[in-house]
Amino acid sequence: MKKAVAHLLPYIEEEKLRSGDAAKNAGKILLATVKGDVHDIGKNIVGVVLACNNYEVIDMGVMIPADKILKEAKEREVDMIGLSGLITPSLDEMVHVANEMKRQNFEVPLLIGGATTSKAHTAVKIAPQYDLPVVHVLDASRSVPVAGNLLTKDKLVRTEFFENLKEEYSKIRIQFEQKKAHKKMISIAEARENKVKIDWNTTNIVKPTFTGKKILEDYPIADLIPFIDWTPFFSTWELAGKYPTILEDKVVGVEAKKLYNDARTMLDKIVAENWLQAKGVFGFWKANSDGDDIKLKNEDGKEFKTLHSLRQQGKKAAKVPNLALADFIAPKTSNIEDYIGAFAVTAGIGIEEHVERFEKDHDDYNSIMIKALADRLAEAFAEKLHKMVRTEYWGYAKEENINNEGLIREKYRGIRPAAGYPACPDHSEKETIFNLLKGEEIGITLTESFAMLPTAAVSGLYFANEKSKYFGLGKVEKDQMEDYAKRKGKPIEECEKWLRPNLNY
Ligand code: SAH
Repeated sequence: MKKAVAHLLPYIEEEKLRSGDAAKNAGKILLATVKGDVHDIGKNIVGVVLACNNYEVIDMGVMIPADKILKEAKEREVDMIGLSGLITPSLDEMVHVANEMKRQNFEVPLLIGGATTSKAHTAVKIAPQYDLPVVHVLDASRSVPVAGNLLTKDKLVRTEFFENLKEEYSKIRIQFEQKKAHKKMISIAEARENKVKIDWNTTNIVKPTFTGKKILEDYPIADLIPFIDWTPFFSTWELAGKYPTILEDKVVGVEAKKLYNDARTMLDKIVAENWLQAKGVFGFWKANSDGDDIKLKNEDGKEFKTLHSLRQQGKKAAKVPNLALADFIAPKTSNIEDYIGAFAVTAGIGIEEHVERFEKDHDDYNSIMIKALADRLAEAFAEKLHKMVRTEYWGYAKEENINNEGLIREKYRGIRPAAGYPACPDHSEKETIFNLLKGEEIGITLTESFAMLPTAAVSGLYFANEKSKYFGLGKVEKDQMEDYAKRKGKPIEECEKWLRPNLNY
């Protein structure tokens, strides 16, 4: 590591830093993001932190199939494997890797990390697949003590750590089973009876200024900067706290300020030297709900695409509805014309060249920085475009006057739910959305698990209804999944695969 990731210093033993790239003899660790997934920054940070702690790190990159990971691990005789993932389909893939490790008689521990992973999932689904330690690590800083305990030459310490881990994970499994037993669920038919009641005759439905889609080619990056939500930028770097107060924080303030200044300097360069291009596509279509589906219609009123929503099935208190996104669109039976929108934006076009340049220079700091900023710019683009949609293109909130803080707190009318998020956890719905928008025309493609490439990309749907709001789907029952699979025209096993964490059976 030529340039250390300065703010991670608390986790880094300074002595070892001073010795620069001296022999790394604490152990050899292979890191990879699993097949279909593009999670990167968090894994990069883990790699840097481990390398600074004397581990030899082999980072295979993103979208790596199980056989490749395991082949490399054997060839390089690694001491540990770390898997990372950002999206839910990766959870199954991690189970598969653990399974393969057992089948192939691997004898190295397995680390699990990334946004979609959790201690519960690791304990319940992954750890039972493999006889050696499988450990969930919440963040990069935790990876060092965990690796230390797993790879120490002191057998007693290793054994004690594994015994404690087994006990902890076994408790989590018991709790999980108990919770499942206590959950009060209702049938999908009952849940539908309890949908959101909207009086469509008195609902003010605004017609968008156009239907069909529109492309924003090469949107000026400089115009996106004021829309950046900086708080997640700091959490990417594992600094906890809200912007702007984080800059004055007693513990992390100095580092936060340095990071912020470096980010600003790089943003200036990104703009002045055209490092990144931002592109977007969005559109509006006539739409009506049909049960829990949303039917999109062309100009002649002919249905041409179907979006599928899922309905909450947990038993609710009196007067609390069982929500589905379809509830926010006027039903076919109302004979009222309603609309839905969709969008996809990226700010990551052209990033590879710069990442490569930094990596060639062993400059992890700036390589992570540009990825983090491209992510921020993509989110800022989504925020800015949503505002333009509300005030101009759809125009249902022309008088809106909300500052950036208000935008971050979602003080506006309408929502932009993203596939893979709690209200619509099925990533595979992105297939329909990208089909509609032709995402590839602006350089965004989907992986086999429906992750977007470039990673600095955001997509979603637009709902304008005043009553529309974000919610969590929660658990669903088999009766809904059978119906959902039928509606999607897919085998139920496939639908279950994309919704595994939501299944209550
Ligand atoms: N300001 C944040 C915005 C991202 S998180 C940032 O810069 O990182 C907020 C977005 O996540 C929303 O706009 C929506 O697209 C998605 N989202 C949040 N909660 C959701 C839910 N319950 N269901 C679906 N999408 C959700």
